[in-house]
Amino acid sequence: MSSGRTKADLVIRNIGQLVTVSGYSKSPCVRPDEPSLGLIGGRESRKACVASKGGKICFVGFSNELSDTIDSSSATEIDASGGLVLPGFVDCHTHTIFSGSRESELNDKLSGSSYLEILKKGGGILRTMRETREANDSRIFDETRDRLRRMVSFGSTTIEIKTGYGLDVENEIRLLQVIKRLSELPEIDVVPTLLSAHAIPPEYSGNSSAYVETVVEPTIDVASKEKLAEFCDVFMEEGVFGAKEATKILEYASLKGLEKKIHADEFSDLGGAALGAKMHVVSADHLMHASSEGIKALAQSGVVSVLLPGTSLSSFSQTYANAREIIRQGGAVALATDNSPNSWIESMQLIISLACYLTKMTPAEALIGATINAAHAVSRGSKLGSIELGKQCDILIMDLSNYQEIPYRIGTNNISIVIKDGVVAEINVQS
Ligand SMILES: [Zn+2]
Repeated sequence: MSSGRTKADLVIRNIGQLVTVSGYSKSPCVRPDEPSLGLIGGRESRKACVASKGGKICFVGFSNELSDTIDSSSATEIDASGGLVLPGFVDCHTHTIFSGSRESELNDKLSGSSYLEILKKGGGILRTMRETREANDSRIFDETRDRLRRMVSFGSTTIEIKTGYGLDVENEIRLLQVIKRLSELPEIDVVPTLLSAHAIPPEYSGNSSAYVETVVEPTIDVASKEKLAEFCDVFMEEGVFGAKEATKILEYASLKGLEKKIHADEFSDLGGAALGAKMHVVSADHLMHASSEGIKALAQSGVVSVLLPGTSLSSFSQTYANAREIIRQGGAVALATDNSPNSWIESMQLIISLACYLTKMTPAEALIGATINAAHAVSRGSKLGSIELGKQCDILIMDLSNYQEIPYRIGTNNISIVIKDGVVAEINVQS
């Protein structure tokens, strides 16, 4: 009877609505609609069921069909209690490795200071740079680990982390080494990105090209040789890094085997989206001021547009990326928290709400942006981001009856269980 059947080690039964987002492992989902969610179950249907073996999904379907192909006699059984089950969130854009915090800048922002004005006065990124440089490795590790664990408790199972508060060769490499240690935490997958071109440190004030010389080649060389970073990113913005510098950094990083990302058109339209398309970056992020030509170029070149609505909110910018236009043009949209000392958001559920309420994405579009499309934004679309046979078993169980309740319940943590690699994640945010 059991011959030929797969021996599962985890079974999730009694699922009310299962969001699989299946069918987009090769390329991201464009122009998503409700059918794109690959829903199984629901009010009038039978209860859905998922099983995994060795951290990989081995069954997706209805409970009464499980025993046809799966031997669940020795599996850990989880009862979803008729709740909602969906893929773990992929937070594909964060700056979460840093020390300190900047809550006092909220008053500056309320008095009308802009992000770039705060930066010019030595606040913002530069303040965090000082606090991060002064902190030892274990302090940075502990502060970041606690943030990551809280992010997991809100449903993120994969988190991209950018450097960018070291801003010299030694400290940027040090941050990458701490990220490497953080990637060993069992409850989270980490995607390391080198963002030395995040700001110009005071030592090189007014001389960005001299600072770029420290990124190309020394920092990228070490990051590549020691396999500390998968991606290289550049903050292309007025007063920070221009198109020529972004091109130089990303071309060299690519030569050294790193994949490319770009912070594009956040505060002004510098043509970052078009440059990203031309350079075939994996993702172009922010895009609040991207032109419609830039948006079109991204869509045509298959670059994922990563939107960060929480950052517009925390920066008091009142300007949001034009999600509707990107989707209309056939661009793939992903969402992320942009967690940083400027935008301290740990919850992808909140980001899904903000995407709906502030950028007019539908709940289905936002959910796809937080799962499979976000996985593509970190080149992991074939491995995670959906609930399909062979994929990594990163799964969320929520005490909700359907997916539309996620954005609807603004700021609520709806998570009841996080499963990482087929194991219930131990989440202890108090440690
Ligand atoms: Zn960013």
